[in-house]
Amino acid sequence: MNDVDFDLVVIGGGPAGLTAGLYASRARLKTILIERLSPGGQVLITDWIENYPGYPEGISGPDLVDKMTAQAQQFDLKIETGEVSSMALSDRVKTIQLDSKTISAYGVIIASGASPKKLGVPGEDTFFGRGISSCATCDAPFYKDGILAAVGGGDTAVQESLYLTKFAKKVYLIHRRDQLRAEAVLQERAFANGKIEILWDSVLSRIDGLSNVEEVTVKNLKTEAETAYTVDGCFIWVGTQPNTEFLPDSVSIDDGGFINADAKMQTSLPGVFAAGDVRNTPLRQIATAIGDAAIAASSAEHYIDALKSELA
Ligand SMILES: Cc1cc2nc3c(=O)[nH]c(=O)nc-3n(C[C@H](O)[C@H](O)[C@H](O)COP(=O)(O)OP(=O)(O)OC[C@H]3O[C@@H](n4cnc5c(N)ncnc54)[C@H](O)[C@@H]3O)c2cc1C
Repeated sequence: MNDVDFDLVVIGGGPAGLTAGLYASRARLKTILIERLSPGGQVLITDWIENYPGYPEGISGPDLVDKMTAQAQQFDLKIETGEVSSMALSDRVKTIQLDSKTISAYGVIIASGASPKKLGVPGEDTFFGRGISSCATCDAPFYKDGILAAVGGGDTAVQESLYLTKFAKKVYLIHRRDQLRAEAVLQERAFANGKIEILWDSVLSRIDGLSNVEEVTVKNLKTEAETAYTVDGCFIWVGTQPNTEFLPDSVSIDDGGFINADAKMQTSLPGVFAAGDVRNTPLRQIATAIGDAAIAASSAEHYIDALKSELA
């Protein structure tokens, strides 16, 4: 078994992956973290974070990610850029397939997070990246004095709509219900913001334009009336879907495709753990992702120690 590459492979470099990497490498497990983009995950596209403990004045997403990455690397965590395309997890030595090579390890922590869900309306695919976005931090500055549509009613939709108003002169927040789901403090700020107009009981039904978004059509679910709004762009925040394209069928998932894991973050397969937004969990936040990851790394450490003793 000397030719096993690593004790542990962590898939994903968001808050969950970086925390799992920190704990595992500090526990002296030979650990590699695979991230397809830059480390940071969804936090990289988050303007301002006010609910992560330790920063009473708040912190920008990119700054928080830099600190997390630097802290994990202090303990010699190896971070490699690559995309995991498939895995073989049933044996005691797991194999993880990247774009250009295969890695073997005794344990795997899946921390591949989640991506924004689509609405599935006409025009959405055509104009994605050409006036449609899910990242206010990335794209809001393009809409100085513009008119924007935003879709959603949860924390992210309201927080990010507030951010849009730093640039846009008007934001139509389209929400399918007659009240927001966002936490109370965010709702208060949205209601007090003169640039945000909430279109209640409404859904976005189509997006039109020539080369870029020019118009959205909004349907009122109570009256069935459709109204066209001239806009410069459209931001969509209607939930997330797990990044699990590479997952073998042998790993149990819930109806939404999120990975089932127990209190120790153990999945349905021994030696395979899940942490963060990719997991079946009631709350998807940085604090919950890093909590999962600390447990997953500790469970992986115990599992790998026992396996190595057995194999010795
Ligand atoms: C706009 C926005 C604002 C938010 N604001 C807040 C906030 O204020 N406070 C808060 O607590 N939470 C906030 N959240 C939620 C928070 O960002 C997430 O809960 C958290 O990032 C989850 O961390 P994670 O590590 O589980 O997943 P992610 O952050 O999604 O990271 C997963 C990583 O895995 C990588 N990956 C995926 N598939 C592969 C693959 N096949 N191979 C290699 N790498 C892969 C991805 O590239 C990504 O970097 C916000 C989210 C968004 C989108």
